[in-house]
Amino acid sequence: MRPKYSVVVPAYNEEEVIGETYKRLSKVMLGMGETYELVFVNDGSRDKTAELIAEYCETDSAVRLVNFSRNFGHMPAISAGMAHARGEAIFIIDADLQDPPEIFPQMAEKWREGYHVVYGQRKKREGESFFKKVSAKIFYRFIRRMTSVDLPVDTGEFRLIDRKVCDAVNRLPEKHRYIRGLVSWVGFKQTAVMYVRQERFAGQTKYPLRKMIAFAIDATAAFSYKPLRIATTLGFLISIGSFIHIAIILFQWLFTSTTIPGWASTISVVLLMQGIVLMILGIMGEYIGRIYAEVKNRPSYIVQEIIGHDDDA
Ligand code: UDP
Ligand code: MG
Repeated sequence: MRPKYSVVVPAYNEEEVIGETYKRLSKVMLGMGETYELVFVNDGSRDKTAELIAEYCETDSAVRLVNFSRNFGHMPAISAGMAHARGEAIFIIDADLQDPPEIFPQMAEKWREGYHVVYGQRKKREGESFFKKVSAKIFYRFIRRMTSVDLPVDTGEFRLIDRKVCDAVNRLPEKHRYIRGLVSWVGFKQTAVMYVRQERFAGQTKYPLRKMIAFAIDATAAFSYKPLRIATTLGFLISIGSFIHIAIILFQWLFTSTTIPGWASTISVVLLMQGIVLMILGIMGEYIGRIYAEVKNRPSYIVQEIIGHDDDA
C-alpha cells in the first residue's frame, strides 16, 4: 500500500547525525498520525552511514535504504529518493538537520489547502560561516537573474512536493539535475513556508568551495542560455570597437603624420582579446560538455541495493 507521506533523505558520510535524524524524523512523522516511509539514500558514504540505516530497516518497517554504488552527489541522491518514494506527498530534507523537520505539519497543511509544492524559504541562517552566508546570498540572486525560470531565492531542496510534481520531475530525462530548478520548471501551485536554517547537528559540510562552484555552473547552464548570449553580445561589441579603432588608424595614416607609438598598448589589447576569446570558448565548452553528457546517456546514479520493507514492488 502507498504510504501517505514519504521523506527523502540524501546522506553522504553522515554517521554522526544519522541516528538523531532518524529519531527526529520518526517523531515528527508519528506525530502527524498518517502512514509514512523514510527513504534514505546513501550516496556512497565511506563511513558507517549505510550500516546504521540498514539497522533501522531491520527494526522499523517504515525505513528504506537506497544504496548507491559510489558517491554520485547530492542531486543524484535526491533524484533516486524521488524515484523510489511512493507517498502521496514527498518531503525532501538533508540528513544534517539544518532544516527543521518540525515544520513538516505546516507544509502538509498547505498541501491539504491545495498547493502542490511547499518549499522552505530561509529567513535566516544560523551557525554557518560568513563566507557561506554571503556566497549563498549571491548564488541565489545570481541564478535568479541568469535563468528564465522563476526560481525563489534562499530556497534549497527542503520542501514538500505532491505526487503529481514528483512524477513530472521523475519523467524529465535530463542527466545534470538541478532539482529545485526542475521543480520550479514543472509549474503547479507553489508556495513558501518561512524558517530559520540551523547549524549542522554534527559533522562537516559536504559542500566545499570546489563543489559549490561546480553546483553554480551546473545550475546556470541547466536553466539558462544567457551566458551564451552574453558571449555573443561581448563579441559583437568588441568587433564594433575594433572597426572604429581601425577606422581611426586609417584616418591617422592617411591624413595626419602621427606615428604609431610603442607596442605595449598593442600587446595589452591582444592579451585582453585572447582572454575574452578563451572565456567565450570556455562558456561554449560548458554547454558542449553537457550535450556530450546527455548524448552518452549514462544514468545519473547507479543503485547497488535497496534494503527495507517493500510490500508492493
Ligand atoms: N550530500 C550527498 N552527497 C554529496 C554531498 C552531500 O548526499 O556528495 C548530502 C549530505 O549528506 C546532506 C545534504 O546532501 O544530507 C546537504 O549537504 P551539506 O549539508 O553538506 O551541504 P550544506 O548544507 O553545507 O550546503
Ligand atoms: Mg547542510
